[in-house]
Amino acid sequence: MIATAPKTNYVSTTNACKLCTPLGATLAFKGVAGGVPFLHGSQGCATYMRRYIISHFREPMDIASSALGEKNAIYGGGPNLKKGLINVMRKYAPEVIGVATTCLTETIGDDVHMILHEFRQEFGDLPLPAVVQVSTPSFSGTHMDGFHGAVLSLAEQLCVDQVEPTGRVNVMSGFVSAEDLRHMREIGRAFDLELTLLPDYSDTLDGPTYDEYQPIAAGGTTLEEIRSMSGARASLEFGTSLVGRKTAGASLEKRFGVVNHQLPMPIGLRATDALMETLSELTGQPIPEAIAAERGRLLDALVDGHKYIAGQRAVVYGDEDMVLGMTSLLAEIGIRPVLVATGAGGGGFAEAVHETCAGLLPEMPEVMEKVDFHDIAARAGELKPDLLVGNSKGYRYARDWNADLLRVGFPIHDRFGGQRLLHLGYRGALGLFDSLVNLAIERKQNTSDIGYGYI
Ligand code: SF4
Repeated sequence: MIATAPKTNYVSTTNACKLCTPLGATLAFKGVAGGVPFLHGSQGCATYMRRYIISHFREPMDIASSALGEKNAIYGGGPNLKKGLINVMRKYAPEVIGVATTCLTETIGDDVHMILHEFRQEFGDLPLPAVVQVSTPSFSGTHMDGFHGAVLSLAEQLCVDQVEPTGRVNVMSGFVSAEDLRHMREIGRAFDLELTLLPDYSDTLDGPTYDEYQPIAAGGTTLEEIRSMSGARASLEFGTSLVGRKTAGASLEKRFGVVNHQLPMPIGLRATDALMETLSELTGQPIPEAIAAERGRLLDALVDGHKYIAGQRAVVYGDEDMVLGMTSLLAEIGIRPVLVATGAGGGGFAEAVHETCAGLLPEMPEVMEKVDFHDIAARAGELKPDLLVGNSKGYRYARDWNADLLRVGFPIHDRFGGQRLLHLGYRGALGLFDSLVNLAIERKQNTSDIGYGYI
């Protein structure tokens, strides 16, 4: 009798749309001036995250770890956490340490809050840095949960007193590129606004070269800025996925009355219009000329270029808010998103996709939540897309399906400059549109029998 392999459901995650939760937290902690991310768990987790983040940002990424072993898994990781914090203080002299838990410490049930309380009591005679903690079990969340959780922890644990009005605006941008953060500052300046970006890794993860190794890269949101968020005139929080969740903006509003404006991530025309209208209302100023001119150039490009891409069918995947932003842009410029997928779950995503595409598409895209590429590939292969839009993990599928791939978001491992890719604002939309049109033109040139010199 010939034995047949039993049919099994796959359990591993490949080419993930959902990354490890503390990875997102470490990125947020990296955007604080003088900050060091600290993983309470095994060294392997920290090594994986460093490797992953470095290949996208191409900058040193130090992540400290309490380096737990088998013994700690049984007896608890408290002593290692305290020892690790002291080591980090000696080596880096940080202003802030951001402690995120891993799957291991969440599973064994370490009470990090209590351990840190003990630590402050035991070492109160030393000049201690601010220590912020966030709970980030990967088995019940995504890297975006970790990112937003860390931003909330920073705001809740560091901004505890009401300060005098500062006139500033808090911006919690979500997980965008370093270039996006710089562009947000430019937009703020155009409206004569000082922004407090939380986090701001635009320098710490995309800084200049130094003659000597810097244990902690310069840049980031300062402790003072975070402590003063209670005096801001308003907060802006980007991300449709945040609606109804406990967020940094909601917490500042509840505790200090700082009005929180939740907006979609400003990718594409409609979402950027919403941001500019909000800033205009907040400041009582009309949209600045330079920004209006950028909008005008975007519209001009759409008129010139839509014929090259109109009717293309796209699969969009990745982080929920990046996906929603890109879906919005595609629908606006005449590309049909036929499948929109994210690794996150928890409801509301399908409704958000439909809302995003309302009035723009003849037919709503299919929506998949809590998926990785196995699930996406099974359906996308049947849909035969012309185009994939998402992180670089879609490369192999794009190649197999002979489709184009527009790399956006995180991670971008197989191209250079992913951290400098601009997604936000009219300028970001214009750059993305140019890239999409050029992908279509390149394909035409490469597959034409005649070849085109002009197109
Ligand atoms: S074990 Fe958990 S925390 Fe560690 S790398 Fe894997 S998913 Fe992340």
